Amino acid sequence: MSCPRCSGFMVPQRFEDLRSDTGELSFAGFRCMACGEILDPQIHSNRENRPHHQARNRKLMSY
Ligand SMILES: [Zn+2]
Repeated sequence: MSCPRCSGFMVPQRFEDLRSDTGELSFAGFRCMACGEILDPQIHSNRENRPHHQARNRKLMSY
């Protein structure tokens, strides 16, 4: 795993996410040892399936 920003060495890490509305308070991600860039693949994938986003899309489509 290398950093997309600086190609530095990234280490797996668990992050606490208290703002999450998915019921998961922590998630696995990667943090760059060089520049501090954080990758959170689970958060990105969850964004696609969040219920309130789907509801908003349905509302937009009904207009
Ligand atoms: Zn980096």
